[in-house]
Amino acid sequence: MSQESISKVQMLAQIGYGDDLARADALLCQHGLTNPRKVNINLSKLDAVTKVIQDNFVLVCSRGDCQKSAKEHNDPKLLALASEPEFCIICRGSRNQSAVDHMIQACQAADIARLCVVGGSPTTRQSFQMLVADRISLRLVPGNMSRTAQQASADIRWADLVMIWGATQLGHKVSSLYTGKSVVSFAKRSIGVLADEVTRAAGNRT
Ligand SMILES: [Zn+2]
Repeated sequence: MSQESISKVQMLAQIGYGDDLARADALLCQHGLTNPRKVNINLSKLDAVTKVIQDNFVLVCSRGDCQKSAKEHNDPKLLALASEPEFCIICRGSRNQSAVDHMIQACQAADIARLCVVGGSPTTRQSFQMLVADRISLRLVPGNMSRTAQQASADIRWADLVMIWGATQLGHKVSSLYTGKSVVSFAKRSIGVLADEVTRAAGNRT
């Protein structure tokens, strides 16, 4: 289990929560995950924090029509501002789907059939997998769990392309295991950017 800590604001943003820290923090404190004096939180609490946020909030982006239709949903959960549009319960997916479709075409053109992604949050990994929908083989490696050098080199051998998803829940102990010419790093947390970066890397091979 990783001992690395990041700020609470950063962890919440990666989960998709972009509203006031105080609203989320009160719940995290109730669940014994932190206390109000702490600025940082250990990455090992990520799954528990994700669950508290998902159980209590509906995440919506700032667009007027998204806000309006979220209110009409009458969900018993509280509305909270999403940290990125891709986490918006109403509009997420539309840009990401087209970016991922474009990525699949680029991978097929470059003979990339197996893609390994290291990092991301549980939520973004799940959304990415749904958008790809078996069109290429994926291996999604959580960046906040321990990974041995042997596992990492097996991932590198398996994959045609390895993407290191920085600016996400990615410990240096994990990311530093991945090196080589098939490894590409980038540091933006959105799924659309992941897809764009894969498209670019694939384009460099054709
Ligand atoms: Zn939206």
